[in-house]
Formats: sequence, structure tokens, C-alpha cells
Amino acid sequence: MAGVGRYHRQQILPGVGVAGQERLARAHAAIIGLGALGCAIADHLARAGVGTLTLIDRDLVDRTNLQRQSLYTERDAAEQLPKAEAARRRLSEVNSEITIHAHIVDLAAANADALLTDRGEGGGGGRGGGGGGDVRRPDILLDGTDNFETRYLLNDIAVRDGIPLVYGGVVGTRGMQMTIRPGATACLRCIFEEPPAPGTQPTCDTAGVLGPVVAIVAGCQASDAIRVMLGNGDEIPQSLLEFDLWAGRRRRLDLTHAMRPECPCCGCGRFEFLESGRSAQAVSLCGQDAVQISPPFQSAGRLGLSALAERLAHAGDVQTTSFMVRVNIPSDSEDSQSISLTVFRDGRAIISGTTQPDRARVIYARYVGS
Ligand SMILES: [Zn+2]
Repeated sequence: MAGVGRYHRQQILPGVGVAGQERLARAHAAIIGLGALGCAIADHLARAGVGTLTLIDRDLVDRTNLQRQSLYTERDAAEQLPKAEAARRRLSEVNSEITIHAHIVDLAAANADALLTDRGEGGGGGRGGGGGGDVRRPDILLDGTDNFETRYLLNDIAVRDGIPLVYGGVVGTRGMQMTIRPGATACLRCIFEEPPAPGTQPTCDTAGVLGPVVAIVAGCQASDAIRVMLGNGDEIPQSLLEFDLWAGRRRRLDLTHAMRPECPCCGCGRFEFLESGRSAQAVSLCGQDAVQISPPFQSAGRLGLSALAERLAHAGDVQTTSFMVRVNIPSDSEDSQSISLTVFRDGRAIISGTTQPDRARVIYARYVGS
């Protein structure tokens, strides 16, 4: 058999061995979001010999990704390749012995079952290559997303279906990571019951992101995922890692007693983000080159326009009135036009310069945060 020996340095680790390596070869990891974290996680898991990877991402590669999104090249950005497809191509060169499914879609309540569980009808929903329709339930979900809406949706799927979920987040010079094993550990909503209101948190597009922070968080995520797939998930400390690399601050919050019986998700079994009412609505505005985004969660009166304006100052020219903040974001490639983003106090936004709801959702998640 080809490739005998390629995993030798991993096999000699305690807890792996030949049996562990075979277990990884039979395992299936789903990586949701192929930005900075997703790239680094997918690279680790492909090299570790995880037999099946499912990659899900809605976005295209652009030049500003290259600073930290380690699977992509200048050519991918020039060709504006979808990230899931660019990642699939690169990873199949890294390891031709594994199966990679690439899905160029926005993970949402409506398609989650088809993409990520065995409840979907025949495991369809795939586009952009990969190995046919044989999508089976993953053994683990890895969070590489840049938005709270998808993150809370993943938490619902994980708890409902009993699939471990490895959460990670980066912004600026700060990172966070925790591993959720449904039934055994706290879930995301035990710790952070509600997602923050849109526009209240910095995002990588407004606050920047330091590449080495990504390496640490993705390293912790991949390491925990490998342990879970080896069958040793119960050895992972129940904790939330938080650090600021530049400030030199680092702490591990003990979560041994953090499971809450009153948690809406794992305690009460309400999967609100899998129900349709809690996803952002994106509607093309008739006769205009614009899309309206209505955020799912109440932020009336909570969105501080001046703070948002300050954060958006890095993105382009900002105008503020007492009703709204508008930023004109210059195009990052020659063949796309610039975008104007107008955000109102209730979190609603009009995105001009596109008629594509999916594109508008990406821009909203990047600059306002959702
Ligand atoms: Zn919970």
C-alpha cells in the first residue's frame, strides 16, 4: 500500500500507535469556515491522515486573506476561487490518500441536515467537487467561522446530534478556544447564552488579526480534534483558553462545573438557531443594486453607531448621522465594484454594489459582525 511510513512520527506518540492511525483513517472531520482558522486546521488534519474531510465555506479568496489564510496563493486570489475549492485542491496535493468533500455554500438551518448529519435526504447539497453524494455524519465539527450566527447554529447541531464541536475564535491579537463534548461538557450557550448584538464586537475586518494568533488557536483546535477522533476526548481538560499574544496575557478558565441545567440548548433541548427565526434575512432590493440584511437578534437601541463608526474607520470613508453609519469600502480586485454599507441603529443594513444576497451576508458578517 502506498504511503506506508508517512505517519511514523505521529504513530510513535503516546495514545496513537498503528490502531490509532487506522482510527484516524476511518474518521470524518467537518471544517466549517475556511478562513484563517479553517485553513490551518484543515492542513493539520489532512497531514495527520484523517480519512474524510468536509470543507464548507461561502466565500471567495481575495488578496487580503493571504496574510494569514495559509492554504491560498496569489493565483487563487487573482482567479477569485471559492475558498472551499481552493482548499480542496491544495489539500489533495498535501495528502492524496484522503477523501475531501468541498461545499461552496453558506451553512444555514435549511441546509445543515443535508451537509452535516445523516438526517439529510441522501447527503446531497454538495457543489464544487469532492467525492459524490456519500456525505455521512462527521465525527467532529470544527469551528472556523467568522460570525456568531453560524457558530450558534453549529452548537445546536452538535448538542442535538451528539457530535463534539471544537470552538475557536481570533480577532486582533487575541484568541479563544474550547472543546465541547455534548453530554459531558458545557456547551457554547452554557457559557455565552446569547450571541452579542450585531455591530457590538470587533471583527477581523475592522480590528485586524495577527497571523501567529491563528496558529495557536488552530493548533489547539486540531490537537483536541485528533484526540477526540482517537477516542480519547475525555482526557481533554474542560476549559476555555483565552490569550492576548501581544499583551502576554494567557488564562485557562476551568469549565468543569460550567454545564447549566437551565441552558436553553443542552439543558432544555431548545435548538433555536436550527429553527428558522434566528437567521439573518438577506433580500435583494427590487430595481436597486443593493441587498438588505435584517439581523436575527434584537439589537434595537443597543447598537452604538459612533463606536461602530470608529471600528469601520479602517475599512473606508465613513459618514455618520444620528440614524446610520455609512462606509464606502473600496474594491479589492479590478473586476468588482466598490461596496457601500449602511448600518441603522437596529442593526439592519443596506449593502449597495451587489445584488447577491450571499455576498451581502458575507460583507455584513465581516464589517458589522453577526
Ligand atoms: Zn449548554
